[in-house]
Amino acid sequence: MNRPDPITGITFPKGKSLLHNPLLNKGTAFTQSEREYLQLEGLLPPYILTLEEQKMKVLSAVRLKETDMEKYMYLTALQDRNEILFYKLIMDEIEEFMPIIYTPTVGRACQEFGHIFRRPRGLYISAKDQGSIIKILCNWPQRDVDVIVVTDGERILGLGDLGADGMGIPIGKLSLYTACAGIHPGKTLPITIDIGTNNEELLADPLYIGLRQKRMNGPDYDSFMDEFMDAATHVFPDVLIQFEDFANHNAQRLLDRYRHHYCTFNDDIQGTASVVLAGLFSAMRLLNQNLSDQRFLFFGAGSAATGIADLIIQVLKNLGMSDEDARRRIYLFDSKGLVVTNRNDLSDIKKPFARECDYESDFASAIKTIKPTAIIGVSGIGGAFDQRVIQTMAELNDRPIIFALSNPTSKSECTAQKAYEWTNGKAIFASGSPFVPVNFNGKQLIPGQGNNAYIFPGLGFGVVMSKPYRIQDELFVIAAETLSSRVTDSNLNKGLLYPPLNQIRDISIQIATKVAEKAIEMGDSKMEPLCDVESTIRSQAFIPEYRSYI
Ligand code: NAD
Repeated sequence: MNRPDPITGITFPKGKSLLHNPLLNKGTAFTQSEREYLQLEGLLPPYILTLEEQKMKVLSAVRLKETDMEKYMYLTALQDRNEILFYKLIMDEIEEFMPIIYTPTVGRACQEFGHIFRRPRGLYISAKDQGSIIKILCNWPQRDVDVIVVTDGERILGLGDLGADGMGIPIGKLSLYTACAGIHPGKTLPITIDIGTNNEELLADPLYIGLRQKRMNGPDYDSFMDEFMDAATHVFPDVLIQFEDFANHNAQRLLDRYRHHYCTFNDDIQGTASVVLAGLFSAMRLLNQNLSDQRFLFFGAGSAATGIADLIIQVLKNLGMSDEDARRRIYLFDSKGLVVTNRNDLSDIKKPFARECDYESDFASAIKTIKPTAIIGVSGIGGAFDQRVIQTMAELNDRPIIFALSNPTSKSECTAQKAYEWTNGKAIFASGSPFVPVNFNGKQLIPGQGNNAYIFPGLGFGVVMSKPYRIQDELFVIAAETLSSRVTDSNLNKGLLYPPLNQIRDISIQIATKVAEKAIEMGDSKMEPLCDVESTIRSQAFIPEYRSYI
C-alpha cells in the first residue's frame, strides 16, 4: 500500500513511521490484520482498543491534570500523536476543551511557548526568507490546503508582542475550524510570520524560538507581506487566508490592501463584527424592533469597534438607509473622549466615524447627550461601565442593550451581575468572556457570550466549499443572521442572545451552508451552482473516525 493517501496526499507509510504520522496513526486501535499488513506487529501492545475506549482513556487522563496548562500540554501531545483521537475527544467534549485549546489557556501557552515547545507544527516564515518565501511554502508536505491561519505575533490576544511564540494562536484556531465545523485537519496550515519582535524579554530569553531582531516595519514589512500573499495563493491556489492577531496599525491596513484581491479575512475585525451583529439581531427579536431603530455608542474605537460599526452600517444600508444616515446611528468614544470632527488627534481608522457634535470627555455625559439604545464595550478597560453609566442607560431605555465585550473577564466593561442589578433585570446583556447565570428577583438570567468561534469555523467552511474570489461583507451578515436564527424563544426569555455552545457543530454546518449559498448566489464563486449545498457540505465534513487501511 505504498500509494498516497487520498485525503492527506501523503504516501502511506508502514511500521514505526506510520505510528509517527499523527494524521494516520490509530495507536492501539490498529486491528490485527492491519498490524500484520502494515508491519506493526510487536510495535504495539497486543490488546486492541476501539476509538471510544481510547477516548475514555485520554479523557480520564486529561481530567486528572491539575492545571489548565498541563491539560493544554497533554492535548498538544495527543494532537501530535493521533489527530483522530484528539478530535474525537475535543468534539465530544467541546464545552470542556474549547477554553483549553483556545482562549483563555492558549494565551498562557503562547507566553510559555518557547519553554514548552516539543514538536514543530505549521510553518515558520522568517525575515530571512524574504525573496524565497515560495520555497518555504513548498516545503509543506500537502498541496491541498483549504485554510491558512497566519499571524505575525505582534498582538497576541491582549498579551501584546509575543513574536514567534504566537504560533499557538494559528494552531488553536485551526483546531477549532476542524472541531467546530469539520474542515479536515490535513487541509489546514498554521503559519507564523517571524519578522522579529520588539519584546525585550523574549529577545533576552535563551529559550525564545524566534529571530533575535527587532521587528521589520514600513515598506519592507509591506513587501514581505505582499510576497507572502502572492506565494501562498500560488502554492495553494484556492486557499482561504485568515489573518489573526496582527497589531492595530497593520490589521485594518492589510485587510484593506488584500480583501478585494484575495480570499482573505481578519477574524479580530470581521469575525468579531459578525458575532456581535448576531447578538444584536437576537436583541432585536427580544425588543421586537429593527436595527434601524437603534443608536449605538461604542466605548473603545479600535479594530473591534470599527469592524462592528462597519458591518452595522452595511446592514442599515441593506435596509435602505443612505450611507450618511447609517453613519448617524454610530458614535465612538475612545481613550480621549467622543470621536468628533473637531478633534485633530484621530487615526485614519477613526476618521470615517467622527461626528459633527459637541465633544464629551465623560462617557456617562456622552450617553446623556447622545441617548444611545446600545452601548458596546470594546476598550479593554475592566469595570468602565460603572453604576452611573448603566443607570443612565436604564433611565433612557426600557431595555438597554449593554455589551461588555472586552476579554479576559477582568477586562470586561461590567459583569453580568452588575448589568442586571443596576437595570433592575432589564439589561439585554452579552459579554466577550463567559459569565455564570445570575439569579435576579427569582428569575434566572443567562448572559450570552459573543464567542468568535460561533462564526469563523462555519464561515470558513462555507468559503472553502464555495470558493469565492473574495469575502464580501454579505457573507458575514448571512453568518450572523444564521447564528441568531438558532436562538430559541426559550433562550431569549432567559436573556440568552446566543445558542448553547454544545450545538456548535450543527450551527457551523448551517452557517457554512448559508455562506456557500450566498457566495454562489452573488456570482462571486468559482463553483458551479450546487443542487443541495447542505448535503454536499455535510458529506464533506470531517468526522473523527478511523478508516480501515486494508
Ligand atoms: P484595540 O486596542 O484596537 O482598541 C481598544 C480601543 O479602546 C482603542 O480605541 C482605545 O482608544 C480604546 N480605549 C482604551 N482605553 C480607553 C478608555 N479609558 N476609555 C475609552 N476608550 C479607551 O483593541 P480591539 O482589537 O479593538 O479589542 C478591544 C477589546 O475587545 C479587547 O479587550 C478584546 O478582548 C475585545 N474583543 C472581544 C471579542 C469578542 O468578544 N468576540 C472579539 C474581539 C475583541
